[in-house]
Amino acid sequence: MSIWDTLVGQRPVIDTLTAAAAGRGMTHAWLFTGPPGSGRSNAAMAFAAALQCDQAGQGPDCPHRCHDCHTVLAGSHADVTRVRTEKLSLGVEEVRDLVRSSALAPNGRRWQVMIIEDADRLTDQANNALLKTIEEPTPATVWVLCAPTVEDLLPTIRSRCRLVTLSTPMAADVADHLARHQGVAPALAAYAAAASQGHIGRAKALATDEATRNRRREVVTLPTRLTHLGAAMTAAQNLLDAAKEEAEAITAALDAREKADLDAAYGVVERGKRPREYAPALAALQKSQKTRATRRVRDVVDRGLTDLMSVYRDAIAIGTGAHGDLVNADIAGDVRQLAATTTPELNLRRIEAILGAREQIMEFNVPVLLALESMMTSLLPTERD
Ligand SMILES: [Zn+2]
Repeated sequence: MSIWDTLVGQRPVIDTLTAAAAGRGMTHAWLFTGPPGSGRSNAAMAFAAALQCDQAGQGPDCPHRCHDCHTVLAGSHADVTRVRTEKLSLGVEEVRDLVRSSALAPNGRRWQVMIIEDADRLTDQANNALLKTIEEPTPATVWVLCAPTVEDLLPTIRSRCRLVTLSTPMAADVADHLARHQGVAPALAAYAAAASQGHIGRAKALATDEATRNRRREVVTLPTRLTHLGAAMTAAQNLLDAAKEEAEAITAALDAREKADLDAAYGVVERGKRPREYAPALAALQKSQKTRATRRVRDVVDRGLTDLMSVYRDAIAIGTGAHGDLVNADIAGDVRQLAATTTPELNLRRIEAILGAREQIMEFNVPVLLALESMMTSLLPTERD
């Protein structure tokens, strides 16, 4: 399997990037956009490997799995810098550091590749620091910025970048990928592909992890269980609790590793005593871990709401007689019942309520439980149902 294979359903992107690595249409600044899970960072890494490959231009397809390709993909290539942040914003100091290293001549013969995975989180100041270097690039430097949409970057930056747009892959392509490269049985692959709505990582998790499937099922079967106010309140609390549990599972190991690194850096382990500077450093670490945990919970809730929304969308599709595959074919009975006992107009209003809650949670920092309770209430059956 070549790393281009991880870019599911992105043939035009693969063609553009392999051509550029071979010298056709190469430029010094790139902007990769695409919805979450479409493979922006995989695309950036594959491109970096193609640029550094000593089999000139063959990149991740290079038959010899050359040293350059191998080290790029392992994250240890000296001329590939990759920035991803767990923080809410990427500041000017970090960008200045990057700009400094971008100006160095590459150790190897080819490029100095700078990848910023969360370019949408650059502060205005950081954007401006970046702009200067993109306007006057050093000959061997390539910047690859990744963001969900072009609107996430200042116009001055995006106008200087060559745009590469990853699209949401088709369910059939995702299912094929899971079956071919992950050894997933066809029926399970088809379910996971549909349920993930084009998010490759999510599709993989759904195909390979039963707990993930069960958690999703809890969410998508909610509409039939939301029969009265008490059920709505319970559903809100349960969704938040499940999100906390899942987020905790993701961050616990990372938190522990960071704490161990900090202890090691201050010699806390060997000497068994704590230097004066340790306490503030520990407090700063705990604060950033807390921020990250909060964000993870919000992200998990957000994904749950996307799943929930898909049930109402399916019901609308059935209600309006639209043809096409259901996202939730695995609970087709529930969806049909929902479609039969309500109207497309009411379900559209429910989708709006879910979108409203997502916005409150993700953009306006409304307490998650509050937003969920209010949303669940508006999902209850009305007299007109
Ligand atoms: Zn190679």
